[in-house]
Amino acid sequence: MLSYEGALAKVLASVMPLPPVEISLDEADGLVLAEAVDARWDMPPADNSAMDGFAFAWRESLSGTELTVIGSAYAGSPWLGSPGPAQAVRIMTGSPLPTGCDTVVPLEDVIETGQAIRLPDKLKKGQHVRRQGEEFRNRERLLDAGVPLYAGESGLLAAAGFARVRVHPAPRVALLSTGDELVELGQTPGPGQIVNSNRYLLSARLREEGCSVLPLGLCRDEPEVLARHLAAGEQADLILSTGGVSVGDRDYLREALAKRGFETVFWKVAIKPGKPVLFGLLNGRPLFGLPGNPAAAAATFELFVRPALRRLAGFPLAAPLHLRAILGGDVHGDRKRECFLWGRLGEEQGRMVFHPSSRQGSGQNRSLQGARALLPVPAGCDSLPAGSDVEVMVIRSL
Ligand code: AMP
Ligand code: MG
Repeated sequence: MLSYEGALAKVLASVMPLPPVEISLDEADGLVLAEAVDARWDMPPADNSAMDGFAFAWRESLSGTELTVIGSAYAGSPWLGSPGPAQAVRIMTGSPLPTGCDTVVPLEDVIETGQAIRLPDKLKKGQHVRRQGEEFRNRERLLDAGVPLYAGESGLLAAAGFARVRVHPAPRVALLSTGDELVELGQTPGPGQIVNSNRYLLSARLREEGCSVLPLGLCRDEPEVLARHLAAGEQADLILSTGGVSVGDRDYLREALAKRGFETVFWKVAIKPGKPVLFGLLNGRPLFGLPGNPAAAAATFELFVRPALRRLAGFPLAAPLHLRAILGGDVHGDRKRECFLWGRLGEEQGRMVFHPSSRQGSGQNRSLQGARALLPVPAGCDSLPAGSDVEVMVIRSL
């Protein structure tokens, strides 16, 4: 059976970044730049004051002497004249320096008497001045393609005048839940019925990842009904389905997909939970058939779907983020399959500690309660004692 590593490599090789779109900077939070951005102007646009103070033209002999203040310059309304040799202009932070001035002395470093100021003994040429272009120069590379746009990048792009940016769009994900036993939240489950909790679990994960969710609803375990529901998913960039993918008598997903020309990339991976996970392409669109058991659906989402979503969204690093931690309790592995155990992350005495959830049942939503990380335990590893150094996959840091 395919290993996790091998299966993930197949996913990443099958999924390409979505074609770029141009959108307003306001809508680009968390999206990935599709092209490099170069500055269109100098920043700052002109030499300006870094302090509230007085601007003047520096000369060695000026230290400790008096200057006459001949005007005031503010951010947004500069002083337009050019001060003479023993003159200064009162200047506020962000105001362009008056012509000929190159140095600023802060308000708190001078003694003011009427229209004059006494300069301190220590002065450095060019002090407290932000030079034109010192942040970036016209045509300088600001951001490379592949950079995700978070707060710092958005501020920089705005400062550089980019109201619109070319980015890879957030993936639209069609979400289908299959199972005769399922009812939607709000309905009272009848005998043998349970609520479709996977829809809420996976929608939350998808929104965390910045995706938009196209709910395809509930689908009975009948191949023809499944096939019809899947057709609606073809408006999405990726299709996600839960249930019906194992070897049970009513696991019809693969049969329904085969009728629609589905190209299977893999079915079944040597992992626990999540062995029956299905991945392939439906008319070129990535489709994942996740197991119906909630903790297995959640694990396979992290192991395969999130990396695929990150690849679609153009992130250069799509594989899960790993963090070193100390194991907070004994765990057991499996002879044949790589195990992925849910757990909490905590910081204790400056070290990250992974506390495995006491419940690891794949059928239980409670295995996921508070879980922020997955611990991979290699196939054939019988057990790992508390205190071991491990690497965990971080799902959420908070
Ligand atoms: P399946 O993968 O269809 O064999 O389902 C495995 C288990 O997961 C069964 O106990 C199902 O009742 C349960 N299950 C399937 N789909 C969902 C869902 N959407 N929400 C909660 N549990 C589910
Ligand atoms: Mg089922």
